[in-house]
Amino acid sequence: MSATDRTAPIVELRGIRKSFGELEVLRGIDLEIFAGEHVVIFGPSGSGKSTVLRSINLLEPPTSGSLKVAGIEYGPGVPGEKAGRRGRPLELRRTVGMVFQQFNLFPHLTALDNVALPLRSVRRVGRADAQVRAAEALRRVGLLQRAAHYPQQLSGGQQQRVAIARALALDPKVMLFDEPTSALDPELVGEVLKTMREVAETGMTMVVVTHELSFAREIGDLNVFMEDGVVVDSGPRGFFEETTSPRAREFIMAVR
Ligand code: ADP
Ligand code: MG
Repeated sequence: MSATDRTAPIVELRGIRKSFGELEVLRGIDLEIFAGEHVVIFGPSGSGKSTVLRSINLLEPPTSGSLKVAGIEYGPGVPGEKAGRRGRPLELRRTVGMVFQQFNLFPHLTALDNVALPLRSVRRVGRADAQVRAAEALRRVGLLQRAAHYPQQLSGGQQQRVAIARALALDPKVMLFDEPTSALDPELVGEVLKTMREVAETGMTMVVVTHELSFAREIGDLNVFMEDGVVVDSGPRGFFEETTSPRAREFIMAVR
C-alpha cells in the first residue's frame, strides 16, 4: 500500500545497545527502514520495544551502536568518546515525530493551541503562522471542527488524534507510535487506527509498536518481533502467517 524508496534507508540502527545501570535492555538491534515504509514492532511487555523507539529519536540515547535518521548520524565517534558527543542530536530529533500511549495534551490549552504550541516553542514559528499550520494538521486528522475544544471536552480517541496532529504539524520525516491505542476504551480504537491508516496513505514513514495485529497485518511492510532486547525474527507482509520462530508464533496466537 505504500510507495517505498529503497535506494537508501531513512532510519538505520546498527548494533544498538542500551543499558539502564546493570540491566541491558537492548542487546544489539539492527534495523533498516526505507522512506515510505510502515514498520510494526511487537513482542512481550518489557522486551525493549519502547526503548527502540525512544532511541530512534534519542529520548534514550543508545549506550553503544550507531544511528542514522534522514542522513543525520549519531554515534560513538572516536573510541573512548561518549556516544552523542559527535553528531547532531537536536537536528536528528527534529526529523522524528512521536505519539505516545498517553496523549500528554495540556489540559488548559485548546486542541488548536496544543498543536500550535510546539510549532511556536520548538520551531519558532510566529503566532499567526502556527495557528494556520495547527488548523491544517487538525484538518488532516478530521478534527478541525473541534479546534476550540479543551482535552476534557474530547473523547480519548479524539485526544489521541490531536496528539497525532501535534506530531504531524512539525512536519517530521518519520513518525513513531508507541502503543497509541492501548490506553483507549475498545470502542475508540477504530478512529485512531483510521487516522493512522490515513497518515500511512500519505506515504509517511512510520514505526508502530502495537498489539493490534489485524491493523499490523494491514499496514506492516516490515514486521519485527522482539524479545529480551533482541529482534527474534522479522519479515515482510505475510510475516504473521509465515514466521517460523516458535516464540513469535506463540505470541501471535496468544494476542489474537
Ligand atoms: P516494552 O516497551 O517492550 O514493554 P521497554 O522498552 O519499555 O519495553 O522496557 C524494556 C526494559 O527496560 C524493561 O525491563 C524496563 O523495565 C526497562 N526500562 C525501560 N526504561 C527504563 C528506565 N528509564 N530506567 C530503567 N529501566 C528501564
Ligand atoms: Mg512499551
